Amino acid sequence: MRIVIPRESVAGEHRTSATPETVKKMIRLGAEVAIESGAGAAVGFTDSVYTELGAEIVTDRAALLGSADMVLRLRKPESDDIDMMKSGCIHVSYLDPFNERDLIKTLAAKGITAISMEMIPRSTRSQKMDALSSQANLAGYVAVMLAAAKLPSIFPMLMTPAGTLKPAKVFIIGAGVAGLQAIATAKRLGARVTAFDTRPVVAEQVQSLGGKFLEIDLGDTGQTADGYAKELTPEQVEIQRQAQKDVIADSDVVITTAQVFGRKPPVLVTKDMVEGMAPGSVVVDMAAETGGNVEGSVPDETVVVDGVTIVGTANLANEVARDASQMYASNLFNLVEDTWDTEAKTFVLDMENDILPGCVITHGGAVVHPTIKNLMEGEG
Ligand code: NAD
Repeated sequence: MRIVIPRESVAGEHRTSATPETVKKMIRLGAEVAIESGAGAAVGFTDSVYTELGAEIVTDRAALLGSADMVLRLRKPESDDIDMMKSGCIHVSYLDPFNERDLIKTLAAKGITAISMEMIPRSTRSQKMDALSSQANLAGYVAVMLAAAKLPSIFPMLMTPAGTLKPAKVFIIGAGVAGLQAIATAKRLGARVTAFDTRPVVAEQVQSLGGKFLEIDLGDTGQTADGYAKELTPEQVEIQRQAQKDVIADSDVVITTAQVFGRKPPVLVTKDMVEGMAPGSVVVDMAAETGGNVEGSVPDETVVVDGVTIVGTANLANEVARDASQMYASNLFNLVEDTWDTEAKTFVLDMENDILPGCVITHGGAVVHPTIKNLMEGEG
């Protein structure tokens, strides 16, 4: 099987889908690996590093994609790229399938088998393939780094002959994968951390990291079978906002990570709450790109509102692109290896297993993922 890794074409994207380690492992499985020239350059993996491991470097993107039995990449494919691929090719990447209906239709029409990395089921067995988690984990770390860089104070308490500095107060809204890493990182820097999540099960995890869990009685919230938060009612959102108001006003840093899978994130920090914060405070809205948890945040920009810095930087994992590539490429390799047939030296699209039916979106000329199919049929 010929596995192809194209260079990421989105401007500013530094991550790559193949590291020397994963290339070595794929070749050891018996795969033929071809990589577009420059694919790892932004994170220091030169073409020669890959060729020394036995991969082929290709400069002609059309020839590369046209020769692929399987494409491994990060961002969703452009329509030009889809034109270049042959029917029956397996394409693995982020796809944003709930929103990218035209893209899904194009992939199906071309006969591509498209696997969406967002849709890898969140089971214990699939954790090693879970790119949402691996990238969110790093993003949580980066969010704290950005906040620390913008805050005109330090995070830890400091007692010196020149006086005592109080520790920074950090409030983290949403204690999923990114939020828990943000809590751990802020604690390591010496901040006093408070956190809230609508899933009460995470209170213990917050406390075990040394954070304080803010108790808010929202009534029935719960979580889905996959461990995701359910969408709150407008009344519950209002209760949450009011209960958080004083904590936000008293915080030096607020980091919001609240997402509801497949839906727009709730606005939890309103304009008046930002106004209530002391000048110099920092808010990092990790949901800015998908609609925002913070009123006034601008996707991919840092703005100052009433003296409060609001960071809306998107793609936070890209700020630590080398480690993010290492984790993403491992996620891909683990997916490839999981159903790899070592004798036939090929990936097997085993639709009977516990992982692939959840993340294969198109196959054999049709949309096959039940949820996405229903959604698209419902639209006519
Ligand atoms: P996510 O990115 O969808 O959401 C981030 C967090 O925001 C979640 O913890 C969610 O509960 C929270 N949230 C939503 N609305 C909120 C609100 N109004 N106020 C405060 N918080 C709000 O989720 P995620 O971090 O990708 O994952 C969430 C959970 O899924 C994990 O904590 C875990 O339990 C489960 N998970 C399981 C596996 C696995 O078993 N393989 C892997 C990853 C995650």
